[in-house]
Amino acid sequence: MIIVMQTGAGKEALAEVKKRIKELGYKPHVIHGTTRNVIGAIGDERGKSVLQSLESMPGVESVVPILKPYKLASKEVRPEPSAIEIAPGLSVGGDKLVVMAGPCSVESEEQIVETAHKVKAAGATVLRGGAFKPRTSPYSFQGMEEDGLKLLALAREESGLPIVTEVVNPRDVDLVAKYADIMQVGARNVQNFALLKMLGQLDKPILLKRGMATTIQEFLMSAEYILSEGNQRVMLCERGIRTFETATRNTLDISAVPVLKEQTHLPVIIDPSHATGHASLVPSMCYASVAAGCDGLIVEIHPTPETATSDGPQSLRPEEFAAMMQKLAEFAKVTGKKL
Ligand code: PEP
Ligand code: MN
Repeated sequence: MIIVMQTGAGKEALAEVKKRIKELGYKPHVIHGTTRNVIGAIGDERGKSVLQSLESMPGVESVVPILKPYKLASKEVRPEPSAIEIAPGLSVGGDKLVVMAGPCSVESEEQIVETAHKVKAAGATVLRGGAFKPRTSPYSFQGMEEDGLKLLALAREESGLPIVTEVVNPRDVDLVAKYADIMQVGARNVQNFALLKMLGQLDKPILLKRGMATTIQEFLMSAEYILSEGNQRVMLCERGIRTFETATRNTLDISAVPVLKEQTHLPVIIDPSHATGHASLVPSMCYASVAAGCDGLIVEIHPTPETATSDGPQSLRPEEFAAMMQKLAEFAKVTGKKL
């Protein structure tokens, strides 16, 4: 932690701050500048937030942390990228580009089983499908809940694809974990710390979505909640953030991929469906995301988007998805990943 003194702060103020730093269990190291002094507080990183209170002492301008507030998610702790096993023989974060695909919501046995077979044939290795849906309106379809989870399990049995599905409420963690291979945390729950802590105690991979108004640092702090409880299998998912632009549902922050790659060892997944809101824009955003260096994609597919109970306009038809996957293989090759 660095304590920046105000210009013109006198010797007495400096001495008082040094004294307080020592009282808090740290060693002050003063750097004398021409116009102002700064003090480095040296000692145990944990609990350094107590030093923030020095900001209210006379003569202190600001107290600035020098290390990132997240640790387990940071490259300081683990410089190499983490490859996370999400199903037997399938890892995210290595040289394989993992594509998760399926409908926004599970609607019927026929819909989810047919989609599972078709996305698998096109090259997807994980089936997505929502059974608990976090909808903006309480009057919109809220998901089939446990019946939807059972249909996902059936689709897994039929297709052999592992399943990723969202848990919305902490009270449903055990229920969803009974069926899911990967637990999804939706954008609206990115700072539901009670939920994150519970997921941190599970032995299951977590797909953590970035919120629509979450900074990269806040996103990594949310990942830290899961990691600090013991669960190291966290994937980060960029799904678009809210900006002034209305031509797309959200604005896909593609730069989040290289920024996250600089700051964390955790794998990065892109969701171009919620980012754009329009099926016609999804393929180009998939190519761009792979070119930017993501580790995987999660894409919404529906056999008949016009009848979908949620997010039909952004859902690709299975044949559009298959065409996109063929082209994607070429982009993957250029970046050194396999589809
Ligand atoms: C979803 O995956 O269907 C979903 C609701 O996503 P998000 O949380 O990113 O809005
Ligand atoms: Mn959706």
